[in-house]
Amino acid sequence: MVKENCGVVGIFSLSGTNVIPMVIDALRALQHRGQEAWGIAIPNKPPLKRLGLVSDASSEFKTITKEYASPSVIGHVRYSTMGRSTLENAQPLKVKDLCIAHNGTIANVQELSNLVGGCSFTPQTSSDTLVAAQRLVALISENGNMVKALSVLKNEMVGSYCFTFITDDNSVYAARDPKGFRPMVLGYKEIDNTYIVASESSALSAVGAEMQRNVDPGELIRLSKNGMETERFSDEPTHAHCSFEFTYFAHPSSNMEGTNIYVARKNIGKFLARKFPIKDADLVIPVPDSARPAALGYAQELGVPFDEGLLKDRYSKKGPLRSFIEPHQSDRIEINRWIIPIKEIIDGQHVIVIDDSLVRGTSSKAIIKALRRAGAKKISMVITYPPIKFPCYAGIDFPSKEELATFSDGKEMTLEETTEMVRQSIGADFLGYNDADNLAAAIGIPKDSMCFTCSTGNYDSLGITPEFRSRIEMKGE
Ligand code: SF4
Repeated sequence: MVKENCGVVGIFSLSGTNVIPMVIDALRALQHRGQEAWGIAIPNKPPLKRLGLVSDASSEFKTITKEYASPSVIGHVRYSTMGRSTLENAQPLKVKDLCIAHNGTIANVQELSNLVGGCSFTPQTSSDTLVAAQRLVALISENGNMVKALSVLKNEMVGSYCFTFITDDNSVYAARDPKGFRPMVLGYKEIDNTYIVASESSALSAVGAEMQRNVDPGELIRLSKNGMETERFSDEPTHAHCSFEFTYFAHPSSNMEGTNIYVARKNIGKFLARKFPIKDADLVIPVPDSARPAALGYAQELGVPFDEGLLKDRYSKKGPLRSFIEPHQSDRIEINRWIIPIKEIIDGQHVIVIDDSLVRGTSSKAIIKALRRAGAKKISMVITYPPIKFPCYAGIDFPSKEELATFSDGKEMTLEETTEMVRQSIGADFLGYNDADNLAAAIGIPKDSMCFTCSTGNYDSLGITPEFRSRIEMKGE
């Protein structure tokens, strides 16, 4: 099976403007959500898909803009939580007259596939998005419209999903799952009389659109020649916004659930400084790039100087990419090699290194080694996210327990024991993890409206008791 997280976009221009340049800019502004492949779809044409970054295809932009000229479009950037990075697995996907782009993971795809009459797919070739699309198309023809179809599908489907759809009769739809795991926003560009839905508001800013609001969990938006229409396919009273979006995944310029990500991250740093007031440190440095605002907040709160002790080599092949979302271990190692310590800043200092998460520990280990080589006297590492101990089945790639730095092979461990085990394995002098209460308070969203499953192992918000599967079973590699 193939499952994706990714970023999605849907655009409809009521003035008939060709929105292809807009979707390209929007996808580029969501590139941090997926760097493996991208694609767009317009009515009555097979989707266009490419591997790699959107900018890799810049020489084609003129031709694409002409050949796919359309006032309506959906788009997708992909990183795989399951399945290989092939063009075949890239999105949008087309089923009959419906094209679909998906951000999230369908956790019960085997079950769902039985409803569409197929149960013989292999991890390498099938997609949870495709199964969901096939079922949705069947439900639309049974029920007559999209909202009725989704209100049936939501009870059959377990998982996280933000979908954008485009139909051959020229309507763009956007739907967000009832718990709101993954983000989605609605914007409007007055000058072109154009609506845009996207995973993050960074995509709205990139095309000059104003953010109007978050798409509500359980809401279906339709953009067509009738303008913007909204209906509900679910009225879940409780939500489970992914807390990891706030510390790592989302773009710092984005606004999500009423909070700006940069401001939230700086605040997380402030709250962490109160939890771990390491007063004898000489300086606070971030692991570039997503931990920078938290490190700044931490340093300001503690009154310890902030500095850049680690720099990414932006000119190397993989330097500007993000190590966590690269699918292959060798790629992650290559990225870490291009995080360069500044000896003149580090030498002889007690440094507090702030990082946004500690997943496999690969990056932390490499960074601590590099800091030691640069002469650090003492290294305290503070992580803005609580210990990650369980796989995510709602769209983020921590697929198997044994890959996590906290893996204890079935042995019950206290927080202190886990922290000590990880501290030793990464080679830091001190390690401090954030906790869910502190994190939620810093973000300013009630803890019970957020998902912390990868830290707690409580899968109630997804409604599943997962069988923990190996990476090979999940990714087919
Ligand atoms: S399990 Fe973790 S990464 Fe997955 S949605 Fe929940 S908080 Fe986000």
